[in-house]
Amino acid sequence: MASKQLYQEVILDHNRKPRNYGMLADATHSSEGRNPLCGDQIRVSLKVDGDRVDSVGFEGQACAICKASASMMTAAVKGKSLPEIDTLIEEFRAMATGKLDTAHDANHLGRLSVFAGVKDLPSRVKCAVLPWHTLHAAVRSETTTSTEGDYDPVSQTV
Ligand code: ZN
Repeated sequence: MASKQLYQEVILDHNRKPRNYGMLADATHSSEGRNPLCGDQIRVSLKVDGDRVDSVGFEGQACAICKASASMMTAAVKGKSLPEIDTLIEEFRAMATGKLDTAHDANHLGRLSVFAGVKDLPSRVKCAVLPWHTLHAAVRSETTTSTEGDYDPVSQTV
């Protein structure tokens, strides 16, 4: 009950005031991600200095869950090292697909664990994962990605 209410408040808050909205003028990495299932389309840009993400921004046309996930993601990864970010990407994907139980399994997700409930909403999993998926592609300098095909977060074994 409480977590469901928190989830709704977080989604509303991040839709009203998305954090780090907009593309960086001095980005070193960027990628565009699509989730054809819902119609979400977002772009993520990063400024990487050494192995650390200095700044991060996103923009796009996305549903509330996708936008809130992107907004929280940018806040979470800013200032982190690339290995730390890889860990977060893996943990978020595992949580969203029900492979990681944030209440019992060790993880670094913190506030991001409000998205744990999407595992029970199969049509929403890709919405929540898309920003992370796009971040993953951006870090690896892949310019486009999709939640379908090889990188499908639902069929993928993380
Ligand atoms: Zn969506």
